[in-house]
Amino acid sequence: MVNIELAVIGGTGVYKAEMLEKPKELEIKTEYGKTNLLTGNYKGRSVAFLARHGSGHSVPPHLVNYRANLQALKNIGVKKVIATAAVGSLNNDMKPGDFVVVDQFLDFTKGRVSTFFDGGAKGLLHVDMTDPYCREVREEIYNTAVKLGLNVHKGGCYVTAEGPRFETPAEIKMYKMLGGDLVGMTSVPEVVLAREAGLCYATVAMVTNFAAGISPTVLSHSEVVEAMKTSSQDVSRLIMSILETISLERGCTCSETATEVR
Ligand SMILES: [Zn+2]
Repeated sequence: MVNIELAVIGGTGVYKAEMLEKPKELEIKTEYGKTNLLTGNYKGRSVAFLARHGSGHSVPPHLVNYRANLQALKNIGVKKVIATAAVGSLNNDMKPGDFVVVDQFLDFTKGRVSTFFDGGAKGLLHVDMTDPYCREVREEIYNTAVKLGLNVHKGGCYVTAEGPRFETPAEIKMYKMLGGDLVGMTSVPEVVLAREAGLCYATVAMVTNFAAGISPTVLSHSEVVEAMKTSSQDVSRLIMSILETISLERGCTCSETATEVR
């Protein structure tokens, strides 16, 4: 039986895990569907890598099987998850090339299945979201990014839009008024399911562009991919450094939040 405590969920632009020694592809079957993972060692630690959009970016944000992904990680023993996300910025201080350790979200998704607890056999759970992203993992990401000399922001509110289209300037204006700093299409339901599964989960967002109406130019996915290419070395350095130093102990309360199932 595999037992891997650390996982990386790679978002747009992060499809490979070249740092892994003896990489092995693993197909995990869950009650929600199948998920393909890459597992291997890094500096003596077992790590799982999951490409959120599939290899080659073939699955759009609204069709990602988030439940299968998170359940698969839980099934192989994962305790801590570091997720990456390419985001647009609504905040003039968070510039393209900057990293943001997300600490809050606003949910503007529509019709996604965003819970493991549908009633019936699974029961019902109103999971606490006071600290949606694990405090300890956030701290680890932030401190490591500072150590590496990256431009990093300690917190930021991630607006999850349904996509796959980009946002209108009117939507961006609204999100900004509501307190959003960043806009992307995947943090919800991923972070919610991670919490329901009792996993420690945190997201490091890479700003690839200013959002519509803030940017003077029209947005394209290739622009995002291009910006990610320039950040990709920094992302790899950051992830490798975190995997090397992150504690395998848990001093947070992430594992206790799903104890109120009825
Ligand atoms: Zn935690």
